[in-house]
Amino acid sequence: MDEVLSAARSVDVSRFGERTLCDACLGRLFGKVGHGYTNDARGRAVRDLLHVDVGPCWVCDDLTARYDALADLVVRKLDPWEFDSFCIGSKIDSEAAAREESLWAELALAGPEPLKAEVNREIGKRVSDRLGKEPNLAHPDVVAIVDTAFDHVDVQVNPLYVRGRYRKLVRGVPQTRWPCRRCMGKGCARCGGAGKMYPTSVEEVIAAEILKDSGGTGHALHGMGREDVDARMLGRGRPFILEIKEPRRRVIDLGGAVGRINASGIVEVDGLVPARGTDVVPLKEDRAAKTYRVLLRMAPPVEEAKLKNTLPVLVAEPIAQRTPERVVHRRADTTRHRRLLAAEVVGVDGDRAELRVTAEAGTYVKEWVHGDRGRTRPSLAERLDVACEVLELDVLEVHDDG
Ligand SMILES: [Zn+2]
Ligand SMILES: [Zn+2]
Repeated sequence: MDEVLSAARSVDVSRFGERTLCDACLGRLFGKVGHGYTNDARGRAVRDLLHVDVGPCWVCDDLTARYDALADLVVRKLDPWEFDSFCIGSKIDSEAAAREESLWAELALAGPEPLKAEVNREIGKRVSDRLGKEPNLAHPDVVAIVDTAFDHVDVQVNPLYVRGRYRKLVRGVPQTRWPCRRCMGKGCARCGGAGKMYPTSVEEVIAAEILKDSGGTGHALHGMGREDVDARMLGRGRPFILEIKEPRRRVIDLGGAVGRINASGIVEVDGLVPARGTDVVPLKEDRAAKTYRVLLRMAPPVEEAKLKNTLPVLVAEPIAQRTPERVVHRRADTTRHRRLLAAEVVGVDGDRAELRVTAEAGTYVKEWVHGDRGRTRPSLAERLDVACEVLELDVLEVHDDG
């Protein structure tokens, strides 16, 4: 406490004038001096030393005496939510903040602490004691915002994240919910009132089962890339993170959810584990190569030997792809450069051929096959000098590190 007292000695007490302060606000004037004391204790020591008058607090209007009551209010507001970690935020009356800042300037203080920081810490300590949970500023499950002017608490519930890999066993299912193009989700004649283009999606199948346990107001699926609606996703599956917004519960039976998802016949997951919001960006930025199964029709048919001679040449060549015609209405018309990493013939049957192709992330594989009317070059169709049509496309592997 010696440092605090020596800092206090350099203050001109007469400058307080008629103003009186509570112990906490007096101590907070030296709040960043010394360690291990509450501002309240600092204030009592300084008051004895400087003989500062006791009275209604000019800075905080006696807010510092209401921390227990505010902590009770926070605990009540948090009651409906299951959480491990929390943090306290606050909205401080702007006039109180202005009053303390003017006092810092008048007294030329070196280490005052703002009222807001004390409010957050002191209410946080009390809530922590009452609930037996630690405050966590970096990754709180819930944030309680205390508005001190109105004794009002807003609770911000952070999302729940789980991660895994999904397989999509059937064609005609998008990765995420796809709002109806005509009504934008409101429901119309075209979509039969459903508000979406497809009856379900990978996201909806998985989220429905998690929501049964967690509750929540919405969801989002973040995938490591996405396959076409008409492509299956096989092999080990595609990494994803599911986000549940405003969950009521966080300790949920993930194994049970996995069993129900896998019973859907549409989507399978091997396992689900908890994740964090900070995991989403690295997942989405991953540039994993993919291996595809391609079933195509050639007109006229091409001998297997010719196909087998052509593929290795194409693997070595850079591919220039203008944004495909099928997506150019919603994406910028640019040219991307990609490479095939491997390509082999699995079999040829008349005018049908099955290939296994590994391509860099972001390669438009269908367009590489049929050439997209010259927008992708070179293409398989161009090199074989026949028309090629993709009948089926499946993703067999996503080559991430995981
Ligand atoms: Zn005060
Ligand atoms: Zn519609």
